[in-house]
Amino acid sequence: MGKTIGFIGLGNMGGPMALNLVKAGFRVQGFDTVPAARQAAQDGGVVLAATAAEAAKGADAVITMLPSGPIMLSVWAEVIPAMADGALIIDSSTVDIDSCRKAHDLALGRGLASLDAPVSGGVGGAVAATLTFMAGGTGDAFDRARPLLAAMGKNISHCGDAGAGQAAKICNNMILGISMIAVSEAFGLADRLGLSRQALFDVASKSSGQCWSLTTYCPVPGPVPTSPANNGYKPGFAAALMLKDLRLSQAASEGAGAATPLGAAATALYEEMDRAGLGGRDFSAIFEMLASSSGRSELA
Ligand code: NAD
Repeated sequence: MGKTIGFIGLGNMGGPMALNLVKAGFRVQGFDTVPAARQAAQDGGVVLAATAAEAAKGADAVITMLPSGPIMLSVWAEVIPAMADGALIIDSSTVDIDSCRKAHDLALGRGLASLDAPVSGGVGGAVAATLTFMAGGTGDAFDRARPLLAAMGKNISHCGDAGAGQAAKICNNMILGISMIAVSEAFGLADRLGLSRQALFDVASKSSGQCWSLTTYCPVPGPVPTSPANNGYKPGFAAALMLKDLRLSQAASEGAGAATPLGAAATALYEEMDRAGLGGRDFSAIFEMLASSSGRSELA
């Protein structure tokens, strides 16, 4: 892998990821539509390009980190003709499976290597270069991408062919959304039954209710001091982003004919949270929304 990287989408995640590539010795040619994002990247050593196509020109690899599938596809359609023959293109955004597959087809049509490599680990992981990458694409594309991904992350998995990275991301976050609600419901019920939160935590964290949403990211203040519940539910991982990922899970399960009734219920609850103007809070604040609605056992 050569040392010149085009990086498009220098936002909350892409900005610090690009800076970690700079720190690892890559020459990063960056582009974003927002002036503040461009400025922060330039301050960290990214060479600014005037357009996405210019950022891609002469690059050994191009990385995109963008808000949605349609935006990612339009950027790929712009940059692919400008890329060097045989170069590598990687999308690390979280997008729908259809857009992801169309993007791989665009790259294949130009003879480029391509990878979907969405991430988990949030802004903290992006800054600390400890992201988890879940990659989909050929073994050759994955091997070529590995040094780049290693400069931005800690755990790097090749999940399978084109689309497998997005599939892993969507399935994982559907588990997370559902399990956070399950843990929140249990704490809400414990409160009403007069069971202390610490007692429930002590039992469930060592019993069959044990899960990441309980032991690492506990949605009530107290038992896990580092969880956002102890910090006013400041994200962390915003409820609006959880809703985005849950909606992607529902689009994917509809397309694939999979039964995901709890995924659908979790999506509806995060939609309710978003409608209540709480999309900017950490997704674990769903505990407060559930706890404040008394006596409800069904969705509104
Ligand atoms: P963000 O909105 O902060 O960043 C996206 C950037 O893309 C913005 O700076 C925006 O100006 C830029 N952009 C939009 N359209 C563009 C275009 N046509 N050309 C160039 N730049 C353009 O979002 P983020 O939090 O950095 O998330 C990026 C992706 O990563 C999303 O797909 C998100 O779902 C995923 N993700 C986010 C997190 C997180 O915790 N924030 C965690 C995992 C995955």
